[in-house]
Amino acid sequence: MTAWQRLQRLPRAEQRAAQNALLQRYVSEYLYPFSPYYRALFDQHGISPDQIKTVDDLQRLPLSSKQDLLPTDTDPQRFKQFILQPDPASLKKAWPLRKKLPLLWQKWTHGEASVRRRVRDEFAPSFMTFTTGRSAEPVPFFYSPHDIQNLHDTGTRLVDVMGLDSDYKIANVFPYAPHLAFWQVFFAGQAAGMMTLSTGGGKVMGSSGDLRAITRLRADTLIGVPGYVYHLLRRAVADGIDLSSIKSVVLGAERVPPGLKAKIVDLLATLGAHDVSVFGTYGFTEARMAFAECPTKDNAYTGYHLYPDLAIFEVINPETGEVVPDGEDGELVFTPLKARASTVFRYRTGDRVRGGLRYEPCPHCGRTVPRISSDLTRESSLKDLQLLKVKGTLVNLEDAAMLLGSMPEVEEWQIELRKKDDDPHEVDEIVVHLSVKQGCSEDVATKSVRELFKSRLEISPNQVEFLGLDSMLQKIGMETEMKEKRFLDARPKV
Ligand SMILES: [Zn+2]
Repeated sequence: MTAWQRLQRLPRAEQRAAQNALLQRYVSEYLYPFSPYYRALFDQHGISPDQIKTVDDLQRLPLSSKQDLLPTDTDPQRFKQFILQPDPASLKKAWPLRKKLPLLWQKWTHGEASVRRRVRDEFAPSFMTFTTGRSAEPVPFFYSPHDIQNLHDTGTRLVDVMGLDSDYKIANVFPYAPHLAFWQVFFAGQAAGMMTLSTGGGKVMGSSGDLRAITRLRADTLIGVPGYVYHLLRRAVADGIDLSSIKSVVLGAERVPPGLKAKIVDLLATLGAHDVSVFGTYGFTEARMAFAECPTKDNAYTGYHLYPDLAIFEVINPETGEVVPDGEDGELVFTPLKARASTVFRYRTGDRVRGGLRYEPCPHCGRTVPRISSDLTRESSLKDLQLLKVKGTLVNLEDAAMLLGSMPEVEEWQIELRKKDDDPHEVDEIVVHLSVKQGCSEDVATKSVRELFKSRLEISPNQVEFLGLDSMLQKIGMETEMKEKRFLDARPKV
């Protein structure tokens, strides 16, 4: 039985005890001695590493955020402050004898070069990905070989949680990019020994190239960004392609709209694939790992199953920074327990979760690891356009996105922000661009969009406009952009 198999069934109290031990060691043997940023932060707040003994003690520490990683005038490479940087002297000072002895033994038996190699394998950056998001500066995150090994481990755990068969052949259509999603799938395939074809997504091979590759492979599992996967399947239906080999679909990198799983299942049924499992996943650059939902008969949104030995999640009130009670809404805060190279700690993800963290055993798979509610609003989408004040009401645009993505009659959509009369001092206006399913009436679609917006968001779009599917796909840059353009800010700059 692997450590993960044991851990995922442990009672909560035992998981917490293990986390306390890991946290204590991580802070005193890695974070404080080797992280320039966090050592300074601890010192500045008068906190000594031995004060952090339990998960609850984390609340003594200040939060950090992406803002802290961004370049400043005096420090254009601020991200380097977050890389664990041991040297022989700090290693000697920070590590207890039980950690130093094996190194000394290795030095006697295999020489100094072999010890250097071992330290390099643990700490030296050898791989990187970037944070995404169009408005914010991308920040590099480095991995040492140790971290790459973690990426393999989380890869096998993802396969385990989703219950994918190791004989499954995987089609990975995430964009080929230095982004976590693509590489998490790549390393999962490597670790689980699964045949994985990474096409690079629509921008590299085009949807027709992707579909040819998937049918030739007879792929069992299709993995990609929700919007692109949906587009690909719709294209397969239009071209009469046989995708009956597909047994599961894994969606990542963006939030999955509530109705999208059902739409994907319907399309796949048309393509000859039945009883397909559709999973949402959650990961982010700074975590350097991803988490998944588990299978259910009706593709329920089961929450993302966490790895308590690799990370601690807290949920805070984003206004006060205080930890909220279990199960309450708030912002996710991430603390790793085995990270090397680029390391953040008590890090505000910016992602808002409705329903917080769940600690009761999963009613579907019985695992006892905590789960993050699937109802998550990603920071990247919030950041792009923030919350918008329209006619005195705050509108969360991602909620609008979720509504549109879930409507069965809507094929594609884009939300455009304008100013009334194009006057920068006037009020904001929302225009919803739609292309609807064949046979759906535009009047009916307009009416249901207005009603849904009114009842769920308390606003009504100023206009609903219609476009043919091809023009709409062009408008959102489906196969030409790295990320679909779902929100267009056409407000004149002041
Ligand atoms: Zn489960």
